[in-house]
Amino acid sequence: MSDRTTSESTKYLLPEEHLPKAWYNLAADLPGPMPPPRHPLTGQPMGPDDLAPMFPKGVLEQEASTERYIDIPAPVREVYRLWRPSPLIRARRLEKALDTPARIFFKYEGVSPAGSHKPNSAVAQAFYNQQDGIKRLTTETGAGQWGCSLAFAGNLFGLSVEVYMVRISYNQKPYRRALMETYGATCIPSPSPNTAAGRAILEATPESNGSLGIAISEAVELALSRDDTKYALGSVLNHVCLHQTVIGEEAMLQMEMADADPDIVIGCVGGGSNFAGLSFPYMREKLKGKKVRCIGVEPTSCPTLTKGSMAYDFGDTGKLTPLMKMHTLGSNFMPPGTHSGGLRYHGMAPMVSQAMEHGLMEARSYQQTECFAAAVEFARLEGIVPAPESSHAIKAVRDEALRCKAEGKAETILFNLSGHGHFDMQAYMDYFAGKMTDTPFDDAALQASLDTLPKVAV
Ligand SMILES: *Cc1c(COP(=O)(O)O)cnc(C)c1O
Repeated sequence: MSDRTTSESTKYLLPEEHLPKAWYNLAADLPGPMPPPRHPLTGQPMGPDDLAPMFPKGVLEQEASTERYIDIPAPVREVYRLWRPSPLIRARRLEKALDTPARIFFKYEGVSPAGSHKPNSAVAQAFYNQQDGIKRLTTETGAGQWGCSLAFAGNLFGLSVEVYMVRISYNQKPYRRALMETYGATCIPSPSPNTAAGRAILEATPESNGSLGIAISEAVELALSRDDTKYALGSVLNHVCLHQTVIGEEAMLQMEMADADPDIVIGCVGGGSNFAGLSFPYMREKLKGKKVRCIGVEPTSCPTLTKGSMAYDFGDTGKLTPLMKMHTLGSNFMPPGTHSGGLRYHGMAPMVSQAMEHGLMEARSYQQTECFAAAVEFARLEGIVPAPESSHAIKAVRDEALRCKAEGKAETILFNLSGHGHFDMQAYMDYFAGKMTDTPFDDAALQASLDTLPKVAV
C-alpha cells in the first residue's frame, strides 16, 4: 500500500476504494458489558423498545449492539465519498519548530462539508431515519457544528431539520446559523419559548446563556410530541461513537502507508465522539497487547473525565433523557461560556467512560488561552486554523512532543484535528485582543451539582 508514498511524504491519501466498509464497535471487546441505559423516572434498565419514540430502528440496534463490525450501508458510503477518506498529514513544520525527535501525524476531519468530524454520524443517522419513514428531525447544537452537519445530512435524505442552538453560541456564531439555513434547516436559540423545558429556564433565568443540556431537553421534548419526528444526538451515545470509527479505521491504513505506528493517540473530548472515532480501533489492538497510549483532552472549565464522577446521570438538564452511566459533572452543572462550545457538556460518552474505567486511556485538561496559543502556532506552521475544540488536542500534542525532546525519545504521535475554525474567528479575534480569559474552576459549584446526582440502585 505504501508504493505511492515515500519517507519524505507529508500527505497520506487513501484511494476511494479503501473507504472502510464497516464501523468498529468497541462494546464487542470491552472487558465488561456496557451498563444499560435506565428509565429517567423508575431507574429500571431500558431496552431498544423503550427508546423507540426517540430514535429509528437502525440506530437503536446499533446502540445496544455487541457485534464487533457493523456494515456501513451503501447510501451512507456514497455520501461519505464527498470528502472521505480524509487526509492523514504529517506535521513536519511543527516537529521542526518544536525541535522534537517525535513524529507528529494528524487525521484532518475539517475537509467535511460542515468542517468537522460530525457529518460522519449525521449522514448515518439521517439515513436510518429515512429508512423508518421519518419526516422531521430535532436536535441541539453547541458551537453549531452538529446543527450544520445534521442540516447537511438531513437535506440529502429528504428530512426537515430543526436545530436548538445554545444561546451564547447563537450570538457568537451567526454564520453557523446561516450555514444551517443554507442547507435548508431552521435554527432556534435555546432556551426558547417553544418548549416547556425552555420556558421553565427562561422564567428562572431570562438571561440564560443556555447549555447543551437545556437544548437537548428542548429537542427531545419536541421529538416525543410527534410521531413523524425523531431526535438526533451528535455525540455521547454508542451509535455516534460507532459511526466515528471510520476515522480510526482509515487512519490505521494511512499510518501503514507512512510506515509508522503511533505510540500515542490524542483527541479532544466534549461528548467523546471524535476521540472515540480515532482511538477505539487502536484500543481494539491495545486489548490484544499492542502498546499505545490514548489521551482524551478536555477544557479545565468543563473537566468531565478529570473531575467528574462515574455515575448514572441524565443526558440533559430537563431530566427527560434516559439515565446513562458515565463520567459526569451532574446535569445541573453550568459550565462557563468559553469559546469551545463543542466541549461544554456535563457528561461523557458511556463507552469512553468505560474505556477510562478499564484503563484503556488517560485524560487531562487545559485552560483555553494555552490551547489558543498552541492553535495559533499550529496555524502559522501548518496552515490549518483549528477549531477551538481541536486546539485542546494540539496543546496536548505539543506537550507530548516536548516531553519526547526532553527524554530524547523518537515517539510517534497521532492526533485528530476534529475540525477547522473558519466559523470561530471571533474567538481568535478575542484571543489576539487579549479579551480571552481563563475562568478559575468552581469546585463548590461542581460539588453542589454532584450532590444532586440521581440515586440509582444498581
Ligand atoms: C463537536 C466538536 C467536538 C466535540 O465533540 P466530541 O463528540 O467530543 O467529538 C470537537 N471538535 C469539533 C470540531 C467539534 O465540532
